[in-house]
Amino acid sequence: MSPVIYPTTNFTATEQLCLTHGEGIYVYDSDGNKYIEGLASLWCTSLGYSNTEVIDAITTQLNKLPFSHTFGGKTHAPIMELADKLRAMVPVEDAYFFFGNSGSDANDSHYKMLRYYFNAIGKPEKRKIITRERGYHGVTVAAGSMTSLPANLAHFDAPLEALGVLRAESPHYYTNRKGNETEAQFVDRIIQALEDQILAESPDTIAAMIVEPITGASGVIVPPEGYYEKLQAVLRKHDILVWADEVITGFGRTGNDFGCTTMGIQPDLMTFAKQLSSAYFPISAAVIPGWMYEAMIEQTNQVGVFGHGYTYSGHPAACAAALKTLEIYERDSLFSHAAEVGDYLQAQLREVFIEHPLVGEVRGKGLIAALELVSNKTTGASFDKGLAGATAQKFCQDNGLLLRAVGGNALALCPPLIITRDEVDALMGKLKAAIDSTYAELKDKGLI
Ligand code: PMP
Repeated sequence: MSPVIYPTTNFTATEQLCLTHGEGIYVYDSDGNKYIEGLASLWCTSLGYSNTEVIDAITTQLNKLPFSHTFGGKTHAPIMELADKLRAMVPVEDAYFFFGNSGSDANDSHYKMLRYYFNAIGKPEKRKIITRERGYHGVTVAAGSMTSLPANLAHFDAPLEALGVLRAESPHYYTNRKGNETEAQFVDRIIQALEDQILAESPDTIAAMIVEPITGASGVIVPPEGYYEKLQAVLRKHDILVWADEVITGFGRTGNDFGCTTMGIQPDLMTFAKQLSSAYFPISAAVIPGWMYEAMIEQTNQVGVFGHGYTYSGHPAACAAALKTLEIYERDSLFSHAAEVGDYLQAQLREVFIEHPLVGEVRGKGLIAALELVSNKTTGASFDKGLAGATAQKFCQDNGLLLRAVGGNALALCPPLIITRDEVDALMGKLKAAIDSTYAELKDKGLI
C-alpha cells in the first residue's frame, strides 16, 4: 500500500482499482479494463470524462491568470460572471454566492452565515439546525455534525454538542413506515413529530432545516408525495429557513434544473458543488437570498470584514470550469436530456427489477436511482453489514460497471448526464447480470 490515507475507506483495505483515463461515460483501469462509470464517479462527473471544451476553458484561464484570491474586494472576471449566471438560474431571490471548494465547506459556510445573520438581526438564540436521519451533508466539523450516517459520526466525538444539531426522521416510507400505514399517514406522522420537536425545542432557537431534496449518499431516498409541501408549511409557520443541499441533486440530475424544482421546494438557502463544474475542477457555492446579505452588511462594518473565506474561494480556473459546464448544460439541453433518458432508465429499472427476488424497492427520479437489496421481499428484511450491497458492487465491477453500495444494501446509480439510451441498455445488461449473480451467491450461502 502507498502511504495514502484514503477517504471513507477501511484502513485494512487493499488498493484495488487504479483508474488511468476516461472517455465519455467510460473509464479504464491500469490493467486496461473498461467500465461504465454508473455513479458519475462520486455523483459528479456529469459531462463524462473527455470534455475538451471544459478542459480548454480551464487551460485558457490557467494560461491567463492561474490564480488570484478574492479577499477584500479583489476580484476577477470569471467569479463575477459565474455569480451573475447562477443568479439567473436559481430559485432564490436576488441571490448572493459564497464560493468554496467542496460541498462540505459550502455547508460549513452556510452554518456560519446563518449565525452571522441571526446575530446581525438581534436574534442570537436562533441558531439550531434541524437535519434528518440518513442525511449526508459532508464531513467537516459543522457539516459532519449535520450528517447522520453512523460511520461519519462514530469515533469523531460527533455530533459536536455546541453546534446544536437536531435530528428529524428520514422520509423513507419503505424502511420507516409503521405497520399498515399508508404513505399519506406516514407523512402526517413524521411531520407531526417534526412540529412537536420544534415546539419542544422552541422555534425561537431554530435557524434552519437542511434537506437534500432527494437524499443521495444514504441510499437515494425520494420522499412521498406531499411531504415537502407539509414540511415547508410547518417550517414557514415557525419562521425556520429552508436550506436545500443540492450538492448531488443540482444541475439536471433529477430531470430539472434543481432537485427543488422536481420536489416542489422553495428554498431560502442552497448548496452546490459536484456538477457545478462536472468535477473538472473543485468548486462549491453557498447560496443566500438578497435580504439575508443586506442584513449582514452592518456587521461587516463593525468588524471591518466578513471574517470568513478560503484561499481558493472562487479560484479562477474553477469558475472557468463551472461557466463552461453551465454553458454546455444549456446549449446541449442536458437537463431535458436527463429528464428524457432518466424516464427511460427509471422505467427500465422498474421493469427489470420490481419482481426480482433480491430487490425490495426500486426508487429514484431522473438520472439518480437505487435498488434496495433485501433478504425477504415480503418483510423487507435486510442483510447484515451491507453484505448484499457489497457483493452486488463487486459483481458490477467484475462486469464492467462501477456503482456504489450506499446506506447498507442499496445499490446507487447516478450515471453522467450525457448517457444515451443505448448506453442505458448496456448498463442495464451489466446490472441485471450482477444482481442475478449476487442473488445466486447469497442463496448458495444460505442467506436467502
Ligand atoms: N452534501 C451532499 C448532499 C453530498 O452528497 C455531499 C457529498 N457526497 C456533500 C454535501 C459533501 O460534499 P464534498 O464531499 O464535496 O465535501
